[in-house]
Amino acid sequence: SLICRCDGITEKEKTLAIIKPDGMSGNYSEKIKNAILDSGFTILKEMTIQLDEDAAMGFYAEHSSRSFFSSLVKYMTSGPVLILVLEKENAVADWRALIGPTDASAAKITHPHSIRAMCGVTIEKNCVHGSDSLQSARQEIAFFFEEKSSGRVVTEHDEL
Ligand code: UDP
Repeated sequence: SLICRCDGITEKEKTLAIIKPDGMSGNYSEKIKNAILDSGFTILKEMTIQLDEDAAMGFYAEHSSRSFFSSLVKYMTSGPVLILVLEKENAVADWRALIGPTDASAAKITHPHSIRAMCGVTIEKNCVHGSDSLQSARQEIAFFFEEKSSGRVVTEHDEL
């Protein structure tokens, strides 16, 4: 039979994507969203926010002891970001593959079709974020969409 009771057989994954401040300029965010949809992801949630310092520090807390931390926080608070929850089978790994390696300047050579090659510039200004595991995806989605306290978000505009 060609009839398939697919519900519940394959659990779809969710992952968190962020279009960082440099990815919000020009028409990059439209290009990135088109790439997301062309790759078979469903955009479940979408919100444009301006991160304040506490929010950026909280989101990247695991990097707080790194030399690049203060620069990273300054970058992430330099303008609005677009937060997206993406869903598909294998969403976490597939979104990481689509964005390419952390260092956007290297990505331009090694992964020329990746999103970071398209709109990123350096190892810091790499225009997009993607959760690196299922566990961090859950934590990061909760960070933005479930924990509504602490004033981490200065302005919020839910587009859905
Ligand atoms: N980053 C940086 N300098 C570095 C490494 C990372 O500024 O040497 C920034 C960069 O924006 C990166 C973010 O910190 O996306 C988080 O770093 P991570 O190693 O988790 O990379 P990712 O998972 O984003 O590829």
